Amino acid sequence: EKVTRFAPSPTGFLHIGGLFTAMVNRRVAADGVCYLRIEDTDKKREVADGVTGIIDGLHRFGIDFDEGMTGPQSETGEYGPYLQSKRKEIYQVFAKSLVEKGFAYPCFCTEEALAEKRSRQEAQKVNPGYYGEWASCRELTLEDIKARLERGEPFVLRLRSPGRPNHKCSFKDAVKGKIEMPENEQDIVLLKRDGIPTYHFAHAVDDTLMGTTHVIRGDEWISSAPVHLQLFYVLGFKPPVYAHVSPIMKEEDGGKRKLSKRKDPEASVEYYRQEGYPAASVIEYLLTIANSNFEDWRKANPKADNRTFPFKLSAMSRSGALFDLKKLNDVSKNVISVMSAKEVFALAAEWAREYDPPLSKLLDRDEAFATAIFDIDRTPVKPRKDIGKWSDVRDYVSYFYDELWDRQRPMPENLSKEDVRAVLSAYLDAYHPAHSKDEWFAAIKDLCEPLGFAREVKEYKKNPDGYKGHVGDVSSILRIAVTGRRNTPDLYAIMQLLGEEQVRQRLSECL
Ligand code: GLU
Repeated sequence: EKVTRFAPSPTGFLHIGGLFTAMVNRRVAADGVCYLRIEDTDKKREVADGVTGIIDGLHRFGIDFDEGMTGPQSETGEYGPYLQSKRKEIYQVFAKSLVEKGFAYPCFCTEEALAEKRSRQEAQKVNPGYYGEWASCRELTLEDIKARLERGEPFVLRLRSPGRPNHKCSFKDAVKGKIEMPENEQDIVLLKRDGIPTYHFAHAVDDTLMGTTHVIRGDEWISSAPVHLQLFYVLGFKPPVYAHVSPIMKEEDGGKRKLSKRKDPEASVEYYRQEGYPAASVIEYLLTIANSNFEDWRKANPKADNRTFPFKLSAMSRSGALFDLKKLNDVSKNVISVMSAKEVFALAAEWAREYDPPLSKLLDRDEAFATAIFDIDRTPVKPRKDIGKWSDVRDYVSYFYDELWDRQRPMPENLSKEDVRAVLSAYLDAYHPAHSKDEWFAAIKDLCEPLGFAREVKEYKKNPDGYKGHVGDVSSILRIAVTGRRNTPDLYAIMQLLGEEQVRQRLSECL
């Protein structure tokens, strides 16, 4: 059984990359356990309500956890506490065992002493850091340590790295494949002066005690993997499978760069909410960039729940998938096109209540009417794909509401005003609100010949000079008169929904 985790710092900012990593963790452990651990050891970055923000933010995207934090002060599961700041004693137990085994030691070097070391390393052009002969606290005697502790000198606890120069550390990454890097030689800090663990030490302890089988995390951690593998070794623990996920990239000036929290609004998941992308669309899109075979699966299973897609770490991009808002929009149109009208109404109305109150008032005024608008384009044969996000709805429904509609009706330029008027007035006589769709269309066809239009497109094509146009032009005039647009969902359904009075008024206005 696979056990994965999402382990964010509670900064209150959910980056699209964070959502991506959380989704991958959730999918990999679809039948296993995925838990939420909060890494709050870096107090400076902590934000009040950060935990709630993360839980709610992910929940909106359908990502829920089996175990771990359930709120700022609450959790569920047998392997807690899941808040790192509550695990101080646990880290200390393992720190002590490392000291006993000779794999850790206190280091009393001050900031100034470390800075001085760094500048000497720079001058000598050697690797920076605390290692080998530079690790001056490595060889302190027991008496010396005791005396300093008694004097109350502050210290950090360092790893006594068993790394050897010119040796390689290698492991198989579930995303990136075989990786080979120099062995770690740095005596990295395990516990800071205040006894709080570093990310590295907490990772090794927590992921072991919490039974993580797969550590799936951003690939900015790949350079730390040799340190981590060494920590598992000195602690006597079995390392997890690592999967280092590439960041989401953005195309810019022909090149690629990481999506940036500072520069790109779309880096924050809040952006998608504001624009009104359904959470389901964002996840669907993230799956298309996460697994190269997802789109083929989707084509074969157009209506399946994407949670049944067999997600594979090995099918992830090694170099970083490109994020493309246009593609997201297309994916989202597909997602919305298979939703029921009721669902479209509910989600659009919910979005509008927050982001477009005037639209929300109109939608909520007559729920059945609004739902019927969305039902028009939901034919099972070929659903229309006009709405990519809820902010498109205002424009999409505008001609159904006088409050939104500008009443502009630009008629085709290839027809004279007289011909347009002739069509409209003839149709006003022929129009009957009780017509079935077939009768409605027959009535439109019957208008054609007396007015000089071909009944069939075929006929017109055979003899284009013999006609003013064809039945398509006639219905186009009607469509524009009723909606102001050349392209709409089924005109018959639109007219039925608007009702006789509205239809007559709109047709007459164009005379
Ligand atoms: N707290 C780390 C971060 O925010 C977690 C990395 C990991 O998943 O191990 O990047």
